[in-house]
Amino acid sequence: MNELLKQLNLDPDSFAWQDIALCKGHDTELFFDRAEADQVIADQVKSMCDVCPVRNACFMQARENREQGIWGKYNWDGKGKVTEEKINDHDEAVRINQLLGANDE
Ligand code: SF4
Repeated sequence: MNELLKQLNLDPDSFAWQDIALCKGHDTELFFDRAEADQVIADQVKSMCDVCPVRNACFMQARENREQGIWGKYNWDGKGKVTEEKINDHDEAVRINQLLGANDE
């Protein structure tokens, strides 16, 4: 791992998964208020998450720290639960919340 990070010109001693996030440098509001207000923006952000190399780490960060907004492709409610309004995404959110043991209220 250290060798790979060096080849990528990253310092293994200070590396954090956020360093190679696809969204690094983007307007963070895209993942919060702007995505909440505009489904097209939300879908575009989630398309970026689909191919992000640190999606799993991002997802776990949202779960463990009870984040709010889009993390790891999903909308989080700030209480450790995935929320989705689109029908297919809602079904997937229910399944994920069951796996996480989050209450489906
Ligand atoms: S999964 Fe999405 S929100 Fe998370 S780091 Fe990657 S691009 Fe950013």
